[in-house]
Amino acid sequence: MNFLSIDSVHHTYFSPKTATHALSDISLQVEEGEFVSFIGPSGCGKTTLLSIVAGLILPTQGKVTLNNMPIGKMKKKLGYMLQQDYLFPWKTIEENIFLGLDIMGNLTEEKRKEARALLSEMGLEGVESSYPRELSGGMRQRVALIRTLITDPQLLLLDEPFSALDYQTKLRLEDLVHSTLKSFGKTAILVTHDIGEAISMSDRIILFGSKPGRIHTIFEVPSTLKEMMPFEVRNHETYPGFFQTIWKELEKLESRID
Ligand code: ADP
Ligand code: MG
Repeated sequence: MNFLSIDSVHHTYFSPKTATHALSDISLQVEEGEFVSFIGPSGCGKTTLLSIVAGLILPTQGKVTLNNMPIGKMKKKLGYMLQQDYLFPWKTIEENIFLGLDIMGNLTEEKRKEARALLSEMGLEGVESSYPRELSGGMRQRVALIRTLITDPQLLLLDEPFSALDYQTKLRLEDLVHSTLKSFGKTAILVTHDIGEAISMSDRIILFGSKPGRIHTIFEVPSTLKEMMPFEVRNHETYPGFFQTIWKELEKLESRID
């Protein structure tokens, strides 16, 4: 049985005067516990596909299922993390983390304990009653991650969550997110424009082509690299060669004249 199944998805955005064919015939299966990255030129439909998988957009054609259930019925099982953290500035860190649980009526003492443990695991102890403005960008993204994890999602959708951070913070967060998701056995899809990030975090990399958006190549990350932490992957001897292979494919796609 497939965990996440995307079957023959097409998507066109319609406006009164134009029709943008954003995605053409996308089929992809993702296994439970797998980490998959989407890369490709700007405008190739990565965010559109992630929004379809999140059940935020209904595709013009095709279907998406999670555990054989239509994705529209599984929205509560999904966690979404974006480039911007979207923390509420007038709420404390703790209130921000508990917002989703509170709304769903699931804020138990056990969940509070779990949140405290996650905060300390992520080097954030003591910030519970601070406000988002008092934290750095990297700290806020860690809070956003905890807020996502605490609802115990079956599938995490990450749309360029590290791209607004400085390089060092980004590398540290890659390791943290990778180890956290692996330890909880979570399934994730990451959209990124950073080939290195895709290689170092993923089990599989899906390279998209544009006009219309479609799957161009799927790269399986070698098992030696899969078992390493992202930071180690970037320093492994096979990393530059793999990077070059993907880079060349991406360059071909980006220089294509339509
Ligand atoms: P990516 O995330 O890979 O950069 P997007 O999914 O954002 O790509 O966009 C894919 C295509 O769909 C682009 O041509 C974009 O201009 C178009 N598009 C995206 N969102 C909308 C929208 N809400 N309405 C109309 N066109 C859109
Ligand atoms: Mg995008």
